Amino acid sequence: MPWFRVDDNLAFHHKTLAAGNAAMGLWVRAGAWSQQMLTGGFVPDAVAQQLGGKALAKRLVDAALWERLPTGYAFHEWSQRQPDAGKVKEARAAESAAGSLGAHRRWHIGRRITDPDCPFCKEGK
Ligand SMILES: [Zn+2]
Repeated sequence: MPWFRVDDNLAFHHKTLAAGNAAMGLWVRAGAWSQQMLTGGFVPDAVAQQLGGKALAKRLVDAALWERLPTGYAFHEWSQRQPDAGKVKEARAAESAAGSLGAHRRWHIGRRITDPDCPFCKEGK
């Protein structure tokens, strides 16, 4: 699972203090959402609305944590602070492959069965 990274200066950063805890709740949830969806720090208006609403989004813009765009918001300096989408995709693929191999060992080797749809059974691992 990829992570949305939070700087260790966040707690008492002047932007955090300016935005307030309610808006920072929106910021964290939107950051996790953006990482999950690989939007590169873009938060569409509809998502910002669902996660916190316009008033809290405006507080993030006023605190320079977000930038206002025509159809949503952008995290400030996302690309410098978050892992890029390509690396997140690679990590997800690696996790998925590891999970599939684990399932093969547990359910196929463990039960001494062969599943014709399982790539690991075909390879004889
Ligand atoms: Zn298998």
